[in-house]
Amino acid sequence: MTRGVVTRFAPSPSGPLHVGHLLAALQARRLADAHGGTCLLRVEDIDQRAQHPEYLELMYDDLRWLDLHFDGEVMVQTDRFEVYRGVLNSLRAMGLLYPCFCTRSEIKSQVAEMGRAPHATLGYLYPGTCRKLPPDVVAEKLAAGVPHSWRLDMKRAQDLVGCPLWHDLRRGTQRSVPTEFGDVILARKDFPASYHLCVVVDDAAQGVTHVTRGADLFDATHIHRVLQGVLGLPVPDYCHHALLRDNAGKRLAKRDGARSIASLRKSGFTPAQVRDSLQQALTRGGIWQV
Ligand code: GLU
Repeated sequence: MTRGVVTRFAPSPSGPLHVGHLLAALQARRLADAHGGTCLLRVEDIDQRAQHPEYLELMYDDLRWLDLHFDGEVMVQTDRFEVYRGVLNSLRAMGLLYPCFCTRSEIKSQVAEMGRAPHATLGYLYPGTCRKLPPDVVAEKLAAGVPHSWRLDMKRAQDLVGCPLWHDLRRGTQRSVPTEFGDVILARKDFPASYHLCVVVDDAAQGVTHVTRGADLFDATHIHRVLQGVLGLPVPDYCHHALLRDNAGKRLAKRDGARSIASLRKSGFTPAQVRDSLQQALTRGGIWQV
């Protein structure tokens, strides 16, 4: 690694900032600093349904309190719908998207009928029902305004790019196995873009060279690598760090309010104490004991 390293912290402000977020932010900041590079901030707020403006304000406030600084301009995903729309149009023109009219519960029962268990991290993998619809049925449904999402035809994507490789700083060279993740949604019924699409497009737009994020997103990297391939985007290196856990070994989640930065501030912690507790947790293999 030489100069020119660009990392990012990309929180979704759908709740108060959490000690897990602090870990992710510090990983990105430290990797950039170790190489004289740049660490950017991106607000991943496309899931407007879960958004509360107060969490965004609280996030900026917590970052200031923690003395965490980022370089350059902040990218905000809800400012970028036109960009995402353009990328979706390109994918559609390449024949890589199809509309899906299935509801969540229909998918659940389709998967159950096939005797498949939900995927450990990605939930119910779509069995491809709407990919097989005759074109006239699709046209009819679209004309009638039946609500639909847009899915990536993963098999076609794989025909174009194969199983592309990426470099993971902790796990070494990885080969993506795209079809294992099914035809993921790239634009939702009620919503013009999905996490998978935006993250790939934005990492490229921000010139990110190293994506640091939690190990819970490792599977998503298979999908992101395929999208980079079909869109001809540069491929960053990845570093999937271990997640914080409680004493029982359970992953800390956003709903664990006691671990929010705001609640630690309220209980009298100083920023140095919060960072110190995180450091101690890391020496215990990620077990958070505060
Ligand atoms: N926005 C995601 C989150 O807060 C992180 C996305 C990523 O790092 O790729 O969990």
